[in-house]
Amino acid sequence: MMPARGLCLLGALFLSIFIEGQAAGAAASGATAVGRQLKAPNEGYNYIRHGFDWPNIQNTDGSATYPTCSGNAQSPIDIDMSQLVDESQRQGTSGVTLNDLNVDAGSGGLSFTQARVKQIEQELRVDFTASPTDNLPTITIDGTDMSFTPLQFHFHHFLSEHTINGVHYPLESHIVMKDSSNLEASDGQLAVIGVMYKYTNDGAGDAFLNSLETQIRTKIENGDATYGEMDVPIDNINAKADLLPSSLEYVGYDGSLTTPPCDERVKWHVFTTPRMVTIDQMKFFMNVTMEAHSDAALVNNRVLQDLNGRKVYKYGF
Ligand SMILES: [Zn+2]
Repeated sequence: MMPARGLCLLGALFLSIFIEGQAAGAAASGATAVGRQLKAPNEGYNYIRHGFDWPNIQNTDGSATYPTCSGNAQSPIDIDMSQLVDESQRQGTSGVTLNDLNVDAGSGGLSFTQARVKQIEQELRVDFTASPTDNLPTITIDGTDMSFTPLQFHFHHFLSEHTINGVHYPLESHIVMKDSSNLEASDGQLAVIGVMYKYTNDGAGDAFLNSLETQIRTKIENGDATYGEMDVPIDNINAKADLLPSSLEYVGYDGSLTTPPCDERVKWHVFTTPRMVTIDQMKFFMNVTMEAHSDAALVNNRVLQDLNGRKVYKYGF
């Protein structure tokens, strides 16, 4: 069920869109009523059944299935802009050096020539199937320079995971990167870039999201994909133009995966300038989510976690 926090103005707005939309029938009547078989939800965790957090999921013997989710360095967090610490105070660890991520589109930049979009459980995810190997983003961690390979990006929709000064954005993308020298390791160092999207009344909205939607819809309408089983190739994603905001100030902190097993091995970098998204574009995320699963939540954001004394550092401002 929708938690109480969903009953805000934002939630009410999308509830009304939801009721008007085609997906309302699927959700209210179940999969058989619309003549389709929706995928079963993830057995390991599910936002509707588990209440948007994971520490209380138990094995049959009563032990915690994902004990790390109760750790002291969990994500997401609220970013209190009045409490940011200057980057120079973060000893041994740098921010992310964006390198070619920071090159204007059209004059090069880190581009992904092969990617595939999939509906993975409760999120829309784009996997980079051929990541570049040159000019990768770098981070110094505990005094060691490390390069990071972008693996995928995905979306948290209708409520962002991180908040800034207590305020949710309607969309947050996470670009997930892994230590390039340890790509096969199950415990390799991770780094995530978070980008917020803010509502705009400009009818065009975000050009890349429009392109993504068009390519997915074309495949579905041609019978080459369904919302639950899509595997749609996406060509030529330019990081700067398509994924990052126009202004590159960000905050950095040590945190975790926001889904089980909640591993605390993530260097987070959350940009504070949003990209723009229209309400029409958000409806696409509603369709993708509600038409893919029989037990899908409209939102997929884990609840905010305590800082537990962690510092949040500011970069570029
Ligand atoms: Zn995420």
